[in-house]
Amino acid sequence: MNDTILIVEDEPKIARLIADYLSKSGYASDHIDHGNAVMEWLAEQTPMLVLLDLMLPGTDGLTLCRQIRERYPALPVIMLTARVEEVDRLLGLELGADDYICKPFSPREVVARVKAVLRRTHGAAAGAESELSEEERLVLDEDGWRALAGGHDLGLTAVEFQLLKVMMQSPGRIFSRDQLMDHMYRDHRIVSERTVDSHVKKLRRKIADIWPERDIIRSVYGVGYKYQPEE
Ligand code: CA
Repeated sequence: MNDTILIVEDEPKIARLIADYLSKSGYASDHIDHGNAVMEWLAEQTPMLVLLDLMLPGTDGLTLCRQIRERYPALPVIMLTARVEEVDRLLGLELGADDYICKPFSPREVVARVKAVLRRTHGAAAGAESELSEEERLVLDEDGWRALAGGHDLGLTAVEFQLLKVMMQSPGRIFSRDQLMDHMYRDHRIVSERTVDSHVKKLRRKIADIWPERDIIRSVYGVGYKYQPEE
């Protein structure tokens, strides 16, 4: 990974404005103005984050977001969109973007979101829970398919373990029920969204048995769930 931010934006003025602000905040950036050039560029270089415009010449932002998620699951993506309709935002979430910024935006807002997403995802890579004490830590024992909350075995089923594992890999990222379903069963068994809810409910109850005060698996109304170990 290098420490640049890739800006994919076909409006040169906007791209330049974002690049200027990022640079003032100490971030280097690269710029691509055509959708068809993105995957090729990513095959050569790994930025630390992608700012991705929705409407692009060539391959559009939604398709690119989906492709990036498939090939580079750990690469954070922030979508830039002039279409504020809720449908588009949700569609974007289905594709697994880390955040959204609606146009018109202030470059300051872009920098703030970039920082927040990097803090979240970088923290995940470096062990986001290092700030927490032993008693507050949730640890996965992958070989034993166990999750330990402050040293206590939560007694999870295989499906609950999978759910928790997927969410813990990307703290703060919102997962739709569809995305969670994909991870629950290796054989891609067809399950309903309600099945996801019921597994998450049991998982949350088991965590609440140990930590009644903490809400680390949060439900995001109308969208899905996220793992958020700290405020
Ligand atoms: Ca555009």
